[in-house]
Amino acid sequence: MPVYLDCNATTQVDQEVADLVFKLMREEYGNAGSRTHAFGASAKKYVEQARTQVAAVTDDDKSTVIFTSGATESNNIALLGLENYAKKQNKKHIITTEIEHKSVLEPIQELQKRGFEVTYLPANADGLIDAVTLKNALRDDTFLVSIMHINNETGSIQPIGEFCSALEGHDAYFHVDAAQSFGKYSEVLKNERIDLISASGHKLYAPKGIGALIQRKRGFIKVPLKPILFGGGQERSLRPGTLAVPLIAGFGLACELAVKNSPNRLENAKNLKVEVLDFLAKYDAEINGQNTSDYVVNFSIPEVNSEAAIVMFKDVVAVSNGSACTSNSYTPSHVLVSMGLNENRINGAIRMSWSHQTEAIPFIQLSEKIEQLL
Ligand code: PMP
Repeated sequence: MPVYLDCNATTQVDQEVADLVFKLMREEYGNAGSRTHAFGASAKKYVEQARTQVAAVTDDDKSTVIFTSGATESNNIALLGLENYAKKQNKKHIITTEIEHKSVLEPIQELQKRGFEVTYLPANADGLIDAVTLKNALRDDTFLVSIMHINNETGSIQPIGEFCSALEGHDAYFHVDAAQSFGKYSEVLKNERIDLISASGHKLYAPKGIGALIQRKRGFIKVPLKPILFGGGQERSLRPGTLAVPLIAGFGLACELAVKNSPNRLENAKNLKVEVLDFLAKYDAEINGQNTSDYVVNFSIPEVNSEAAIVMFKDVVAVSNGSACTSNSYTPSHVLVSMGLNENRINGAIRMSWSHQTEAIPFIQLSEKIEQLL
């Protein structure tokens, strides 16, 4: 098998997490909503422990955590869930960016179809959104600002702290899609100006199909979200449905491990990044995106097409040319287009992303493959 370098698409489940998930599927498999026996009580205990573990990543109270099936669902609940509030307040305006994940862009497009007005902030050539542009875009009737923390394609870390300052004195709710940063670059997410945070388990060594929405309070009042699903009232009715206890417990443990091991993991990732950048410099690779996460590099080698490279590399390293969710369509990356990169650079863009679990990268074989492409 090739070395897996596509951790922004998904990660390998941590062994300890997998063991716990397995135990809760085979041994303690109760429904957290069952009140009549010990199986239910034990399941509930695991869920509440996980709530505390997830909340600890951003120093939140456990009551802010709503378990969802992943960041896509968290984003949908956060964005569509504010529609009713906006209508009541007679507010019409939303601000987001051109480089969001589709799970933010599409619900916002849906709101646009329902009559809301949207400002899409562009990224600069470095893949970054400017806080001054955000401040200038605010209107009296802006009720929602949704900006991602770390971009999944380029790894650019957006200046969330500056956005929080730009929003001071304005009452728009601020949602941050932190799918790529939760448990990795969590510090800035503690900023109290952020109202809603989306997180995903499978980007953090937990299984696929689990995530969380952090719904904070202003004063004593929770962000006024209305449900988009209806059912048994679980998760304060915001995400009804039988709780996925094994996945929730696994995500909780993954969060605890992330908090505990974050500095070491980051150090490993940083070292790998130095090696990758040194290697790429030999081929005059252009790096797409600045101020990037230590877990990813997006690059283009002049004259090398990414589709050809991915096929050539496939026995050596597993990489991608952007978002896994859209990787079976050949439309150019909306992120790189927003950055204003030229067509050749966009067509050549390759994303390598790793984790603390990544084995050594096979640079010698990789260079043989690149030589064949040139
Ligand atoms: N937002 C971002 C920035 C992402 O990278 C992803 C996953 N590619 C998502 C949202 C969707 O997350 P999930 O797979 O948990 O639905």
